[in-house]
Amino acid sequence: MEILQLQFQVEIALTIGFAILILLIMFICFLQFYLDLRKQSKDLLETATLECSQCHTSFQLPLAYFIQHPFLLKKDKRIQLGGIKRLTSRQYHLTCPKCHRKTWCSYDLENSTSILACLRKGMWKKHLIRFVLLECAVFIFYILLMQLYSVFLF
Ligand SMILES: [Zn+2]
Repeated sequence: MEILQLQFQVEIALTIGFAILILLIMFICFLQFYLDLRKQSKDLLETATLECSQCHTSFQLPLAYFIQHPFLLKKDKRIQLGGIKRLTSRQYHLTCPKCHRKTWCSYDLENSTSILACLRKGMWKKHLIRFVLLECAVFIFYILLMQLYSVFLF
């Protein structure tokens, strides 16, 4: 009876440990992907045209700016088109270079290149493959350990 209880506790501890490991790998892979994205975005020449909601001046901002500042406050504007909601423009909370006020600046998404389309094709593949391989390895290791731990412990 006691051995069964101990086995159960070991299994729970192993499962929790591996769940944390899987989440940690997920987080590290995402961070690496983001840092790579940030590094590559420095070479981007494309700019976005934004319009200040206070003085209505249009100004240019490099697309890389949005990748380097992922926590900018933003508001999405969608238009309903035959049951489908389409994202037409996005507002960012920025300091206008003309009137120097921190305000909402709108970015027209319909007539502009998307950030993702500008990035080197397939850059995410390398990260995705590494992520899947790592998670698979951890999972296989977990299954093996669940089968074998009793041999070592009991
Ligand atoms: Zn302004």
